[in-house]
Amino acid sequence: MTTLVAGLACAIPVDAFAWCQALSVVQPDTGCAQTCVTLSDFTAAQIAERSIVALDWPRGSSQPYAIHRAGANAISQDNVEAVFERAFARWQTIDCGDGASPPLGFFLSENPGTHPAPEFLNTGTNENTMAFVSDWARRGYAPNAFALTTTWFRLSDGQILDADMVLNEQHWIIYDCGDAPCPAPSEDLCEGGCPSAAVAGGVVDLENTVTHEVGHFLGLAHSDADEMATMWACAEANEVFKRDLSADDIEGLCAVYPPGCGCSAAGVPISQRNTVIVFLFVLGIAWRYRRLRSRRRRSRMGATLYDPQ
Ligand SMILES: [Zn+2]
Repeated sequence: MTTLVAGLACAIPVDAFAWCQALSVVQPDTGCAQTCVTLSDFTAAQIAERSIVALDWPRGSSQPYAIHRAGANAISQDNVEAVFERAFARWQTIDCGDGASPPLGFFLSENPGTHPAPEFLNTGTNENTMAFVSDWARRGYAPNAFALTTTWFRLSDGQILDADMVLNEQHWIIYDCGDAPCPAPSEDLCEGGCPSAAVAGGVVDLENTVTHEVGHFLGLAHSDADEMATMWACAEANEVFKRDLSADDIEGLCAVYPPGCGCSAAGVPISQRNTVIVFLFVLGIAWRYRRLRSRRRRSRMGATLYDPQ
């Protein structure tokens, strides 16, 4: 073990980074240690031909996100809201240097969410909705995934237009584990009913999971080298340490959203942007999940799909 760690330390340059910005292409599925594909992996011709763009929100974005009114089984709505506010605050109050934070201001809506499934409206106002769902399998999602974040973006410049999160209460007990490792599954944990013992894989800490998913919400993909990073692709059911961002997570968000920039997202001016083209981008966090059963989704939605594991 010691030798291996020493070897890795020597192999990784001091300035190496592991964070990864989401792109409009499918990232390869390489297990927990995801390989990050970046724009530099493509030629200018490929980027132009395939409309490959990096995804992010406009600098200065200040939009609400809503918790779906159905709430969670095992956690009160007030507690759920507090967890989400802490998770968003953790990312948005990062110190990128000299006390400056990324120019983002997402905030909890005063109104509960109304859309239980990821949804994008071509006309009207979109709602960034966070929903707990008990029909996970029916939706075609991988049973071992704790949660999925769906992000719609404009193909011409990668600007994120809407992001929705769903949490898997069919196969996992989503719980607020406090400061301790999550307890063993127990019906006492659930106010509205636990998943059956046959499918309950364990107790999952809501804040640990949401903090990771908010990283996806903001446009980060999986970190490919730092197992302690919040954006590492894999998680154990009972862990809580991903609530706290690692140096790699902080470096990633500060690079995507450098402070002091009031301009819009990089890309062509609005007047020259192409017609809005919307792709679907799904990300998630999972536990010992290796294969994504997504073909049905991919064909049904005609979308680009990010492997959640
Ligand atoms: Zn993820």
